[in-house]
Amino acid sequence: MKKRWITPLRRISVIFVSLFFIISYRADIQILEGSLSGSRFIGFHLIDPFVTLQVIAAHNSVPANLIIGTVTIVLFYLAAGGRAFCSWVCPYGLLSELGEKLHFFLVRKKIIKGGLSLPVGRYWFFALWAGLSVVTGLLVFEIFNVVGILSRFLIYGAGAAGIWVLLVFLAEVFFARRFWCRSVCPIGSAYGLLNYVSVGRIARDGDCDNCGRCASVCIEPSILNFKNMKTEEGKPVYIKGSACILCGRCIEACPKGSMSYVSRFKNLV
Ligand code: SF4
Ligand code: SF4
Repeated sequence: MKKRWITPLRRISVIFVSLFFIISYRADIQILEGSLSGSRFIGFHLIDPFVTLQVIAAHNSVPANLIIGTVTIVLFYLAAGGRAFCSWVCPYGLLSELGEKLHFFLVRKKIIKGGLSLPVGRYWFFALWAGLSVVTGLLVFEIFNVVGILSRFLIYGAGAAGIWVLLVFLAEVFFARRFWCRSVCPIGSAYGLLNYVSVGRIARDGDCDNCGRCASVCIEPSILNFKNMKTEEGKPVYIKGSACILCGRCIEACPKGSMSYVSRFKNLV
């Protein structure tokens, strides 16, 4: 049975989180304060792990609140699945999905060629952004952080930094599909590290005739190349590595209903 409800639910989740920030700020109810880079939910600190890493790299120390807020977030995504943040919470992830649709539309109309990707992978950029904090003593990535900029833009209103988000978006539409999330964003890379040990994950646990429909909708099709994976009869094939954003599009696409969200303990969906 096809599970078509995942994408709508995921989009509602992203919009709900952003709306929660906006309403808390505008109505001054102080339930959720701050932005996706750092916030307080009914008094509990929640900090983006890469912000904390930058603070450590830049200042060689880190306030207790930052550690508590980061540990809380890390524990949550260890349970939910590391990069679930990217597809279920991040507003730029949602915008980037729209950019991907426009990109494929332009490719189909033969207006652009498509198929471009950055020559270096996400952990090179991760090291670069962290290294820049060490060298400068500043949180350099935050100047370019489309997640933080967009989150603040939505909550507090327009700012000139929004132009940067627009430029990244247009580059994704016209040149390289989803290049920011696939290669550049160290936030996604930090959550991607949790993918290796998280409880929540994606797996193939049914029949497969290698039709490739799952890969055709995946942000990183190579992670669904089952032909080149070692599989054992009757055992689930877990999608490993840092690229999976737990979007569930492969679950929706599989005609045999063989892809699912799983926990290490039992199937969830
Ligand atoms: S990679 Fe970065 S910008 Fe992309 S969805 Fe994840 S956190 Fe958001
Ligand atoms: S493997 Fe599935 S859930 Fe993971 S990114 Fe690809 S399509 Fe999304």
